[in-house]
Amino acid sequence: MEDFTVSSSKPTGRFAPTPSGRMHLGNIYTALAAWLCAKSRGGKFLLRIEDLDPVRCPRTFADQILADLEWLGITWDNAEIPYQSERTAIYEKYYRQLKDNHFVYPCFCSRAQLHVADAPHAADGRVVYAGTCRRLTAEEVREKRRQRHPAARLILPDTDIQFTDGHYGPQSYNLARDWGDIIIRRSDGVFAYQLAVTIDDGLMGVTQVVRGSDLLSSSAPQLFLFRTLGFTPPRFLHLPLLITPDGARLAKREKAVDVGFLRQQFPSPEPLIGYIAWLAGQLPKPEPIKVTDLLPLFDHKKIPGHDIVIPGNYWENLK
Ligand code: GLU
Repeated sequence: MEDFTVSSSKPTGRFAPTPSGRMHLGNIYTALAAWLCAKSRGGKFLLRIEDLDPVRCPRTFADQILADLEWLGITWDNAEIPYQSERTAIYEKYYRQLKDNHFVYPCFCSRAQLHVADAPHAADGRVVYAGTCRRLTAEEVREKRRQRHPAARLILPDTDIQFTDGHYGPQSYNLARDWGDIIIRRSDGVFAYQLAVTIDDGLMGVTQVVRGSDLLSSSAPQLFLFRTLGFTPPRFLHLPLLITPDGARLAKREKAVDVGFLRQQFPSPEPLIGYIAWLAGQLPKPEPIKVTDLLPLFDHKKIPGHDIVIPGNYWENLK
C-alpha cells in the first residue's frame, strides 16, 4: 500500500471546521490528528473557517473555535484565516469556468421530489440524483425559471475515481453510481461544500487532508473537481469516527462532549489531549500531555482501524 508519509516535501495540512456550534470532542480529535500529521513532519498547518451558510454559522461560533483551539495549544501557520463566507467572488470565478465548459445545469427539483421512494441511494444511504433536470429542454428551463430559482448541479461522469486513503487504503468510487450530479450552488446562491472545499484546498496549497471518515466518499467528487479545475490533489487520510456506546455519532448537543462544558471541568487541556491521544492509539495510557509533546510520538499507523466508542461518563475518570 502507498505510504501516506512517503513524500520528499513537507506536507501542508489543514483544519476546516464548519462553525455551526461550539466544537465537541470529535472536532478536537480531528483538529489534533490533522495538526499532528502535518507538524510531526515539519509541515505547515492551516486553519480555514467553512462558514458558507451565513444563517447556520454566525461569526461568534467561529471566534469561539479560534479561542478553543488556542486553549488546546493547536496553532496554525496562516496569519490570515480564510472565511468561506468572504470568498464568494473566488468561487464565482471557478463556477463560471465550469459553466462555460458545460459541466453545470440548473436543477428545479424540490426536496420532496429528490426523496421520492424509488430514488436511487448510494451505499451510505445518500440519495443519488437521478439526473431529472439534466434532460430539460431550453424551453422547459425558461418556463421553470419563472416559477422557481434553480440550484446548480455539476455533471459527474460515469467514471471510476481511485485513490489510496492514508488510513483506509485503496478506494474506488464510480461518480455516476455513488454520487450522481451534485449541487455546487444552492438555489439561494450559496456555494456548496464540495466546490468551495476543493477550490480552497487547491488555492491554499494543501497537500494533506486529514478529516473524519464520514467524508471519505466525498474525496471522489473532490478529486474530480481538483483535476477539472486544474489543481494538484492532496493526499487524504480519513479518521475512524468517535461514537457513543449505542453506535451513534457524537453530536454537538451532547453536553459531555462540548468543549465549553469540558473547559469548565478542566483548568488545563492536558488531560483531555492525553485522553484523545490515547483513543487515537498514540499513548499506551490516557495521561495528561501537551500537544507539542505528542509530536515526536505521533504515528498515523497506530490510529485504530475501527470507530472509537466514547463512554458517556468518560470525562469523570479524567479528573
Ligand atoms: N467543514 C467540514 C466539517 O466541519 C470539514 C471539511 C473537510 O475537512 O473537508 O465537517
